[in-house]
Amino acid sequence: MIPVPAEFSRESFEAGVTVIESGAPGDCAYLIESGCCEVLVPADGGLRRIDVLSRDDLFGEMALLDNLPRTATIRTLVPTVLVRIERRYVQSLLEQTDPVIQYLMRLLLYRFRSERAAASAQASAVAAPSWMQRPDRQPAFDPHAAALRTIWLARDLTQAIEGGQLELHYQPVIALHSGAVAGVEALVRWRHPTLGLVAPDEFIPLAERTRVIHRVGRWVIRRALDDWPRVRALCDAAMPPFLCINLSAPELSEPDIVEFIGGALAERALDGTELRVELTETVVIASLQSVARVAEALRAIGVGIALDDFGTGYAGLSYLQDLPFTTLKIDRSFVGRMLGAPRSLHIVKSALALAAPLGLSTVAEGIEDAAAAQLLRELGCTFGQGYLYAAPMGVTALQAWQRERGRTT
Ligand code: C2E
Ligand code: MG
Ligand code: MG
Repeated sequence: MIPVPAEFSRESFEAGVTVIESGAPGDCAYLIESGCCEVLVPADGGLRRIDVLSRDDLFGEMALLDNLPRTATIRTLVPTVLVRIERRYVQSLLEQTDPVIQYLMRLLLYRFRSERAAASAQASAVAAPSWMQRPDRQPAFDPHAAALRTIWLARDLTQAIEGGQLELHYQPVIALHSGAVAGVEALVRWRHPTLGLVAPDEFIPLAERTRVIHRVGRWVIRRALDDWPRVRALCDAAMPPFLCINLSAPELSEPDIVEFIGGALAERALDGTELRVELTETVVIASLQSVARVAEALRAIGVGIALDDFGTGYAGLSYLQDLPFTTLKIDRSFVGRMLGAPRSLHIVKSALALAAPLGLSTVAEGIEDAAAAQLLRELGCTFGQGYLYAAPMGVTALQAWQRERGRTT
């Protein structure tokens, strides 16, 4: 039985009452609580009964998804109690779902309506809605453009690796006490042939859902380690240099992920202690079991483990006791606001205070101004990363940046 939320309004009807009329606009659906109704469609100048609905049956549901006129007339056969479901309720649920699901639902509804109209020789009554067109012909504000873009990207992502469209950019991680480059973080980008540069925040979640993440992740690891000798040469020789890579939850569940990383290091005669794997709080919470197993095994071959985006995962801190983290990265949402917002500053200070006794090094993410860098240095934060120093860039640009820096400092 479909549960009825308490706040939904109930309406009582006598027998023989038309509840909804074919062709009329609709903004709600009805659930039958008691009684029954007949479903009538226009035929031969009159109405023809095609169904009888009773308790727990839903009708008028297409209006919950679109604004098009009702396709049938519903009339009560006996005294009937109905629960009214407003479109705005369903729309708010729909808005919280994946754009592709929203798109598919509307597409299927459109097809269904077209078929019905064709069957009753009313084909012209259902015009293709504007969102059926390609996104490049859509106005910027069209909500369906996002869904279409997601679909195009999902379709093209499988070819991105073979097509050589992925790029690895590196953002320097700065030792705050000296200003020297201590290491880098590798960040993947997708140079789409028609859509341009696509950010990882957009395509990594898509890769996770379509399981392409495994191939993307392995490409990143191989490329980062291949690039590392050239990139390491740009780091300050006075400190042990490090290369950070990001891993997402499905990658951690791969049974051979540690073997793969270990093998990739060995093939290139690289030392595990130079590699740092970054895991976001969200990843840690989503897959605590596999994180613990993988993190222990990586630590055993010397690889460091950084907790990325610290403070954004809405988690308790218990996992900090159990997992072998070596670094804590304070999320840029706190770092960016700490100068103007005492509460953000308090969170940054608390994160630093938490890290110190646990023996974790600290990285402040998203440093954009010199005053923030100065304050973080005073607060004892170990490393900093942000546009103040450099945005992520390809190896050649990084080499040029380092040369330029050498000239000006
Ligand atoms: P993240 O690991 O927290 O990376 C830091 C992000 O902050 C990067 O965004 C970087 O460009 C951005 N950033 C750096 N400095 C500043 C600054 O001063 N201000 C601001 N506003 N932003 C700054 P990006 O490259 O777009 O990456 C976004 C996220 O995508 C990354 O967040 C990471 O979680 C994920 N990601 C990137 N590359 C990979 C990858 O190879 N594999 C996986 N699984 N995830 C990746
Ligand atoms: Mg990261
Ligand atoms: Mg981060």
